[in-house]
Amino acid sequence: MKYTWATSTHPGLVRDSNEDAVFPEEDGNSAGDLLVAVADGMGGHAAGEIASAVAIETIAGSEAAAAERVREANRAVMERGEARADHHGMGTTLTVGLFMPDGTLDVGHAGDSRLYLSRRHELLQVTTDHSLVAEYLATGKITAEEAVDHPQRNVITRALGISWDLEVDDHRVNLRPGDRVLLCSDGLTSMISDDEIATILSEQPAPQAAGWALIEAANQAGGEDNITVAIVDVLE
Ligand code: MN
Repeated sequence: MKYTWATSTHPGLVRDSNEDAVFPEEDGNSAGDLLVAVADGMGGHAAGEIASAVAIETIAGSEAAAAERVREANRAVMERGEARADHHGMGTTLTVGLFMPDGTLDVGHAGDSRLYLSRRHELLQVTTDHSLVAEYLATGKITAEEAVDHPQRNVITRALGISWDLEVDDHRVNLRPGDRVLLCSDGLTSMISDDEIATILSEQPAPQAAGWALIEAANQAGGEDNITVAIVDVLE
């Protein structure tokens, strides 16, 4: 299987800094063994930037399966958090996709960043958000309309850097030629709907242009958070 990809990150219109991180930073083409990841850091005194950078650095230097890389990254963030008082309590989300030569996509995930599969103009969210609002929605405590403006919509229930023992979700997707995979931080999905994402992905054939268009749309909707997108197209 051949893959072509593009990644972009933008601070948005409100935040002074960008605590998101993405891998790889360069766009390119590959026949597989492609690693793509998005991390959304949190914590004061620039600790969020460090947490997401440590997570990305760790998974990029690992040979393990996707979920195990997320666990390794968690231990690395925990170590950094304990080493310095001003980094204490730093954390990050992490969503990792390993694109294999045979078309298998191995996903490891913790937090509220997302991985979507776009297949024949249908958009499917592969990952589950580890957030309070997602839990409320799943149990029927609130409706989808109430979730949009919910006061606790930024509260995440799982992230790296909180406990040595992190529960990591594991997903496997059998990719087909023509599929498009999107990894993104919540700075995209808190600003625009899945329908808007699906429209942009189907209107923009080039992954780089699609990434820019998504960031532009999130900024036009307010750009309240850092926005990161990674798009991988599956070729013949
Ligand atoms: Mn965010």
